[in-house]
Amino acid sequence: MSQIVKMPKNTQSVYDLIGLGIGPFNLSVAALAQSSSRIRAAFFDSKSEFSWHQGLMFSRSVLQTSFLKDLVTAVQPTSAYSFMAFLVEKKRFYDFLAGRFTGVTRVEFNEYFAWAAGKMNHLHWNHTAQEVSVKDNRLSVAFEDGRV
Ligand SMILES: Cc1cc2nc3c(=O)[nH]c(=O)nc-3n(C[C@H](O)[C@H](O)[C@H](O)COP(=O)(O)OP(=O)(O)OC[C@H]3O[C@@H](n4cnc5c(N)ncnc54)[C@H](O)[C@@H]3O)c2cc1C
Repeated sequence: MSQIVKMPKNTQSVYDLIGLGIGPFNLSVAALAQSSSRIRAAFFDSKSEFSWHQGLMFSRSVLQTSFLKDLVTAVQPTSAYSFMAFLVEKKRFYDFLAGRFTGVTRVEFNEYFAWAAGKMNHLHWNHTAQEVSVKDNRLSVAFEDGRV
């Protein structure tokens, strides 16, 4: 578990690693960072919760890539944030095997991403990054609401 650093309003917080935007890319980094106790990490997104390509989730559209290209499997196949872990927890694993689907729907993968995001404690929603600058040898990020 990574160390949690809460961001009180109007103060400055220091991290080893931050991610701006929580799409699948940074969600993957966040899932991997979660397993390290040494990295103080935090991720920020202007949205109020996770969503992937909102408005483009047509019921029959399927992933363009393998479901094995999930948040973690290529780096940590035993991670609790894998698509397989999602299927097992949701009791869909055997249905998935029996179904012999040609592709996983993007709707289901969005659900998987949101499930993984819901388990992490270093994601901060409603944070819009406004400016990134270098200050005192550190990267400094100013958010719309005045936090740094
Ligand atoms: C229709 C479509 C289908 C696709 N299908 C696939 C697929 O099947 N498989 C695949 O691998 N790729 C697919 N892609 C490629 C797609 O680029 C990736 O799936 C993925 O969304 C990229 O993730 P990302 O995290 O880089 O960016 P995004 O998903 O774009 O996430 C960026 C995040 O940054 C946040 N943000 C932006 N500005 C700020 C700010 N100033 N402050 C705070 N937060 C901010 C946004 O709110 C957003 O949540 C598809 C793309 C499209 C358009």
